[in-house]
Amino acid sequence: MAAFDVVVLGGGTAGVHVATEVAGGGKTVALVEAGLIGGESAYLACLPSNSLLLSASRGEPWEDAVARRAEVTGGLDDSAAAQRLNRAGVQVIRGTGRITAPGTVEVTRAQGAPAAAGGTGSRAAGGTGSGTTTLTYSDLVIATGCEPVAPPIEGLSDIPAWTTAQSLSSPDLPRRLIVLGGGPAGCELTQMYASFGSQVTLVEAEPRLLPGEPAFAGEILAAALRRAGAEIRLGSRATKAERTADGLTLALEDGTRIDAARLLLASGRRPRLGGLGLDVLGLEVTPGMALPTTTRCEVAGTGGRVWAAGDVTGTTHTHASHYQADVVAANILGRHREADYSAIPRCVFTTPSVFAVGAIPGEAEETAGAGDGDGQDADHSPSADHSRDTDHGPDTDHGPDTDHGPDTDHSPGNGGRTRRMLRIARAPSAEAASAEAASAEAAAEASPVTQGGTAAQGGGPRLVTARARLGDTARGYLGQDDLGRLELYADAGTGVLAGAVAVGPDAASWMSEVTLAIRAKIPVAVLADVVHAFPTYGEALETALRELAGTGGSTTRADQQEKGTGTLSELDIETPEGDAIEQHQEVIADEAVASPRREVPFDVNEADAAEQERAVGFDDDDYR
Ligand SMILES: Cc1cc2nc3c(=O)[nH]c(=O)nc-3n(C[C@H](O)[C@H](O)[C@H](O)COP(=O)(O)OP(=O)(O)OC[C@H]3O[C@@H](n4cnc5c(N)ncnc54)[C@H](O)[C@@H]3O)c2cc1C
Repeated sequence: MAAFDVVVLGGGTAGVHVATEVAGGGKTVALVEAGLIGGESAYLACLPSNSLLLSASRGEPWEDAVARRAEVTGGLDDSAAAQRLNRAGVQVIRGTGRITAPGTVEVTRAQGAPAAAGGTGSRAAGGTGSGTTTLTYSDLVIATGCEPVAPPIEGLSDIPAWTTAQSLSSPDLPRRLIVLGGGPAGCELTQMYASFGSQVTLVEAEPRLLPGEPAFAGEILAAALRRAGAEIRLGSRATKAERTADGLTLALEDGTRIDAARLLLASGRRPRLGGLGLDVLGLEVTPGMALPTTTRCEVAGTGGRVWAAGDVTGTTHTHASHYQADVVAANILGRHREADYSAIPRCVFTTPSVFAVGAIPGEAEETAGAGDGDGQDADHSPSADHSRDTDHGPDTDHGPDTDHGPDTDHSPGNGGRTRRMLRIARAPSAEAASAEAASAEAAAEASPVTQGGTAAQGGGPRLVTARARLGDTARGYLGQDDLGRLELYADAGTGVLAGAVAVGPDAASWMSEVTLAIRAKIPVAVLADVVHAFPTYGEALETALRELAGTGGSTTRADQQEKGTGTLSELDIETPEGDAIEQHQEVIADEAVASPRREVPFDVNEADAAEQERAVGFDDDDYR
């Protein structure tokens, strides 16, 4: 038995970061990892996938791309990562952890694994010699990530199928490949394999790609993937698979049969909670459920000192895992910190790439979008679904989730996808809520925006949409990119951005200012006055922002009146002009007072995040 202040279950992005931070803060820490230290992102997901996509975009041959991938992932050797942890003061224990009593974890060591790994042995935990190690803790961190869900397709176990992780660690380039699932991973892997010469068919049960994002994103992406040579089959689920001499035949419910050498499952994952012994802590978990956490990332219903970070909580990105790990570490070290989920970016690293952040409008408002950036694209209206499609297939280490069987809790989707709903519900103070209601009511009476504005699903804010095309910028003209576009969603009640989606070259780079704007709640009126370098795609942002602020953009006031839409300026929200006057006055005042240092009243974490309430759960689809 070895006693630690903190035991971390799972050594992926989240687990490694928490462990390192709390060890740095003086705690004794054991990190238990069943597979590779560093987790999915470094070896089997983000890095290999992005490495191959970049190689494809550079036109490298497959063999060179595979060699580069091996370099990037360190040949799947995690000893350096283990040593880094050890140097940071973390005791690494290789094996599978299970909570056996409140305050106690038992680790079943992997065959042949030492009790402690990657270290000098001077900090060895108490091995029993029987293949198990018992650890006690004051704080427990659950960071066990996500696991694959086997889709309910008859005959699946008899055919040559890959999980995403298997594909991303294989040297094989299939001649004909079926990718099951049109979420981010399915799209990325379709483009990657098609670029290297595979004949790829992507099958998605929903009527469009990226079902969790506004329709225009999936439509542009589908066109791009088709141009890359892939066949895209939407709106029909796979029902049956049969092995053939050359590989397999996949039958869809519409009667289509597709032959391929291999099937790549990019159709669903869920938080990895099975076998953790959570019942011992009083937690009842069902397959597909995410760990319920507070904004401090404490697991609700455990009586305290049990924390969670990463995919296991329902977040779906490496950067989100890292962020939550920061929050957990701060709280364990006694520094109160709350997570704010209002502006976590969602990216698809295809060409063109897709970037989304924050809220998107609901389906009810699909045809009611406000300002139409180019005056022509009324059909590119936002979609209903606030969930993200986590079509990153099952992972190699753990294999498809056969022990749980097809996840019948989830609607069958294309291959039984799990849908992750991540909703952000603001719970304002009573005062703020009534002020907001009053202002909304006033706005409803005063402005056509409210007739055309879009409401986020789940009782969220009323959103006003503005659109712009990248092809209308000089950068788009130079790059001959007539495809990209963006949509900005502003909260009609507060005049700040609530969300955005963009499709275009390297969209994550030039849209990052939107992430900041949402998180920092910068008024649209101020954003509309920001100058963007020429010639950049930032100019498209400027167009949409000015449209939202009612100070320009490609849609005229007359157009808006005609469409029954409007701008935020009509909601009595400050305009850049008004803002500039105020600023001018401030500048003069500052000069007169001999340049005192100005304190910015900016409550980023606690007060602000405390207002937030997050409802996270896995439904019938999920994202990464
Ligand atoms: C194909 C693909 C591409 C992706 N691309 C991107 C991208 O480009 N950008 C992005 O931001 N995100 C991407 N993601 C998502 C990203 O990989 C995850 O969000 C991230 O890895 C989650 O980190 P984590 O620490 O929560 O979990 P993981 O990295 O999965 O770590 C969890 C660890 O816990 C271990 N474990 C589980 N149970 C136990 C146990 N009982 N005892 C001990 N150890 C245990 C596992 O072995 C695992 O190593 C992608 C995902 C996929 C599948």
